[in-house]
Amino acid sequence: MIRWSGKQLIINILLFSIFLLAAYYLWFPPIWACQTVRFRGFSKIAPSVYVSDQTSKPRQDSLLQFINQAHKRIRSFWGAQSGEATIIFCSNREEYQKFCLLYEGAGCSLGTPTGSWIILNPDGLNVDVIAHEMCHDELFARLGWMKAKSSLPQWFDEGMALMVDYRYSDPDPSRRYIGYVQEWDILTNHGKTAPHLQDIVTLNGFFGTQRGQADPTRTAQSYVTSGKEVSRWLGLVGQDGLLRIIQQVRDGYEFDNAYREIEQYHRPKL
Ligand SMILES: [Zn+2]
Repeated sequence: MIRWSGKQLIINILLFSIFLLAAYYLWFPPIWACQTVRFRGFSKIAPSVYVSDQTSKPRQDSLLQFINQAHKRIRSFWGAQSGEATIIFCSNREEYQKFCLLYEGAGCSLGTPTGSWIILNPDGLNVDVIAHEMCHDELFARLGWMKAKSSLPQWFDEGMALMVDYRYSDPDPSRRYIGYVQEWDILTNHGKTAPHLQDIVTLNGFFGTQRGQADPTRTAQSYVTSGKEVSRWLGLVGQDGLLRIIQQVRDGYEFDNAYREIEQYHRPKL
């Protein structure tokens, strides 16, 4: 048995911690990039908002305006906002790719035990993309890192984000479900090519990823299927049911059971 003196033990623990930290950053270079954003040609223009130095002043002003509007959408959808992600606005795709694990899309969010970030590329300069990413971050903030990563199906995570993203959703919640039914009908050939919810639980299943490439047709079908399901469920359970499922999953309750039971509880009794 190895016997270490107190000093040796402290040194070994310290070395091991440094090793873990280095491994963590090497494994996820985007997280390191986010944490060192201020040394990469980005400036802070508001608390928790960084923009690429190549961003013009009018674009910076619109960004701040859109962020404000997105905050309002999140607060009205959730009742309050718990997420405090740092926002990083990139001026081109090359910058964006340094921060995002997935290179597609107009924005992405990164949640880690040491912080969370929303990264936007120039296409993300609008309230819909920002609110969408904030909604992912909100789930992350309310559930914590472990639970958000391991307990939520991808269709629920994306479906929720769609509820505050009016590119695809009707701003009026009472018309949202019917809008998704129509979209789903068109994109899935009356449901014939629609994925089942159990097929879009994982990230790869949702995006139809093969050899690192997302399948755009499958991705679109997964989005409308998620939007249709989540708008249907929320139409029944409302904000009350939403807050309840978050609480239950945080308490360790299995997602599928909680989802079903909350729906049954809110379903109109005949
Ligand atoms: Zn999303």
